[in-house]
Amino acid sequence: MQDFSQVPIEDLDADQAAEELARLAGVIAHHDALYYQNDAPEISDGDYDALRRRNEAIEQAFPDLVRADSPSHRVGAAPAGGFAKVAHRVPMLSLGNAFDGDDVAEFLARIGRFLGLETAPAVLAEPKIDGLSCAIHYHGGELVQAATRGDGAVGEDITANVRTIADVPNRLTGEGWPEHLEVRGEVYMRRADFQALNERQEASGGKVFANPRNAAAGSLRQLDPSITAQRPLHFFGYAWGEISVPQQDALGSTLMDARQCLVSWGFSINEPARLCHSLDELMAYYDHIQSERPDLPFDIDGVVYKVDSIELIERLGFVSRAPRWAIAHKFPAEQAETILEAITIQVGRTGSLTPVANLQPVTVGGVVVSRATLHNEDEIARKDIREGDHVVIQRAGDVIPQVVSVRTDLRPENSVPYAFPDRCPECGSHAVREDGEVVRRCTGGLICPAQAVERLKHFVSRNAMDIDGLGDKQVKFFFEEGLIKKPGDIFRLAGGDKDSLTPLRNRPGWGKLSAENLFAAIEARRQVPLDRFIYALGIRHIGRENARLLAKNYGSLEAMTAALSRAADPESEAYSDLMAIDGIGPAVADSLVAFFAEAHNREVLADLSAQIQIEPFEAPAQEDSPVAGKTVVFTGKLEALSRDEAKAQAESLGAKVAGSVSKKTDFLVAGPGAGSKATKAADLGVTVLDEAAWLEMIGKTPT
Ligand SMILES: [Zn+2]
Repeated sequence: MQDFSQVPIEDLDADQAAEELARLAGVIAHHDALYYQNDAPEISDGDYDALRRRNEAIEQAFPDLVRADSPSHRVGAAPAGGFAKVAHRVPMLSLGNAFDGDDVAEFLARIGRFLGLETAPAVLAEPKIDGLSCAIHYHGGELVQAATRGDGAVGEDITANVRTIADVPNRLTGEGWPEHLEVRGEVYMRRADFQALNERQEASGGKVFANPRNAAAGSLRQLDPSITAQRPLHFFGYAWGEISVPQQDALGSTLMDARQCLVSWGFSINEPARLCHSLDELMAYYDHIQSERPDLPFDIDGVVYKVDSIELIERLGFVSRAPRWAIAHKFPAEQAETILEAITIQVGRTGSLTPVANLQPVTVGGVVVSRATLHNEDEIARKDIREGDHVVIQRAGDVIPQVVSVRTDLRPENSVPYAFPDRCPECGSHAVREDGEVVRRCTGGLICPAQAVERLKHFVSRNAMDIDGLGDKQVKFFFEEGLIKKPGDIFRLAGGDKDSLTPLRNRPGWGKLSAENLFAAIEARRQVPLDRFIYALGIRHIGRENARLLAKNYGSLEAMTAALSRAADPESEAYSDLMAIDGIGPAVADSLVAFFAEAHNREVLADLSAQIQIEPFEAPAQEDSPVAGKTVVFTGKLEALSRDEAKAQAESLGAKVAGSVSKKTDFLVAGPGAGSKATKAADLGVTVLDEAAWLEMIGKTPT
């Protein structure tokens, strides 16, 4: 599918618009699931809103193309498994968004037009808490059920969890409440509580949350309510759903009245709220709250405007998925300027090098920020970000702060462009970037401390060395204890004194496994077939199939090491031999060459060779076969056999099948349509056979 994500909407034709709507539906559904079900957003709220706005704008321009699964029809994601589902008898809709004063003016104008009013009605303005919407039902004043919003139509039953929240009355106080009452509001966590929770979580090895909203969501959706009870959750009531009597009878004629009712029945409400009578008053409130934002004890992401009169609310009703009488006015992403002191490189567990900006600490939206993501090498080059620069950073709610731009006007005179390292900062190995990849990776897999545990896990895994009793947990444990740092250490461990492990027996991760059993399992793998050994090295792009091809082609580890070291020169015969192996392409070849070029890796191989016996690849050669040990290339169309059958047959007779013709080729079997390979074979003096001659030679004359 072509990418139209950057095409302005007015330039889209109908086909392109349809594709773009399809793309957006998928992307938005993906982010919804991350946000609502996993509490782990990947993009900022601002970026998410931009996606939804683009989707809505395209739908407006192409109303015929609105999809059945349009994100505009959905509020959030369907509930995750684990909780009973609760249908909301009055749907829980989300609000439309305003991003600037014009949007707010249009909101008021639309209300005026709809109601035929000359002046705007009174509008209640409240802070918009960044939490989790929740509906709580009371019957006869008793809390009977609580549910998350879910997708707006169906949520999750979290009654037991909500009962543990101190701000939520289990029994309504005061008087005048209707027989049945559904109070809606936001479950949230205060910033200070969030920080303390994260400290506790970190100390106990639990999950650390990205922000208060995620912490609230994660705490509320615990299957065990006793865990929720330990979390410092709060609740604000701000709306209602089902009520057993007419709204005005229960709650009064305005939202301001309703707020007082909620307070008298035992709920907290969000402050500071204000009743406004004009666009100017709304904008003044917005500015005021934005300036207060850093000092509020909880995160907010904007303000909400709601028509105050319940009579007018009922007349205005709903449009699409949002009420006509309310709108959320979002704050822009928060930015600040600071100095980028240094760029450091983090090495991931698969060897990827990620640049991080270390900043002079600065407060952004009430949070002190000292690090920001720089994404990758290209991003740094594109924005020309340098150490010592004044930079503008942005923190958008949920995501890691990022560097937006550089104040080049404030750049020091001696500034130099940032040179991305070509060596791994953890182990000093070469860091390479493959064609078409944005990420640079460390090639020192086996010795790189950042990657060691992952590589060791792979080394001992079932399809590799297959060492029973050395599971993921044990590998991590031995690594952390300093007993296994590199693969050869595994065999030194077993060769050592068994009693040296005695003190470990009662430690976590060691379990019931006795030293004797583990040593026996390790001893049993001191002999290993070459192809398994190659696979165990965990070289990028070398899976089991490629490992087998290499083992078959080179025969022994010594021959392979020698050949691949020589192959560092792309002009060398060793390199063309490598490329001639049928199934080995340039990416695989480059990865192998990079691995064997690394002195650290050759040391690891030498160390292992001293510890274990690597069995040469056993070709199923038949001594009396006329093609045993010969290199054969097939080209053109074969008639008696398929290409795969012919290859398998040749291999079963001990021949090596190559993908291209070189000086080492013994026979080229050329069917009709053979092209350049036949010409090259003729040039090199390679014997060319047709299919019949080949079959005759191997004694398989077709009948
Ligand atoms: Zn490294």
